Amino acid sequence: MSRRGLLIVLSGPSGCGKGTVVGKLLTARNDVCVSVSCTTRAPREGEREGVHYFYKSREQFADMIRDNAFLEYAEYSGNYYGTPKAWVEERLADGMHVILEIDVQGGQNIMRLCPDAVSVFLLPPSVDVLKARLVGRCTESTEVVQQRMDAAVWELSQADTYHYQVINDDLETTVAEINAIIDREQIY
Ligand code: 5GP
Repeated sequence: MSRRGLLIVLSGPSGCGKGTVVGKLLTARNDVCVSVSCTTRAPREGEREGVHYFYKSREQFADMIRDNAFLEYAEYSGNYYGTPKAWVEERLADGMHVILEIDVQGGQNIMRLCPDAVSVFLLPPSVDVLKARLVGRCTESTEVVQQRMDAAVWELSQADTYHYQVINDDLETTVAEINAIIDREQIY
């Protein structure tokens, strides 16, 4: 039987580049997969059901909470996000390392529930860079960008509750650092 995979929590403020980093990690290694969360937020242009998220109504999400289908869930900027429990458990049992790309509340919940989880906080090079990325993405209204900046300030203050902090300045360096963390942690 293969050994159990690592549960890897990856957090960082919206716009810090988590999605791009995870995409690179998935291409770089075949022992890593990413959990696809459920959300009540509407799909952004170009996002696909089952690839970026499973899009749920608030009622469907509430039913899943009731059925205990989430490893964790949280409200973020007025929408709900949750990690499907069964899928993650199956992959870990198969020996795959599972990345959870989740917000800080969710990350801290996972650290409490799963003490073996490895947590990585991705930092933007600066708050100005973060704002520029959020505005440049052009997928959210000015009000939502402001909400996300407010959330980011609190999230950044929580970075040291994670095992590792990685500054996402140069993408290749960031991916190499996270690769090294996975290799080091899987030895234990
Ligand atoms: P976005 O709307 O930008 O896709 O995601 C907003 C925030 O929710 C991001 O910080 C993202 O990492 C987080 N998020 C995505 N999926 C989950 C989840 O399943 N649980 C939690 N707690 N946060 C999530």
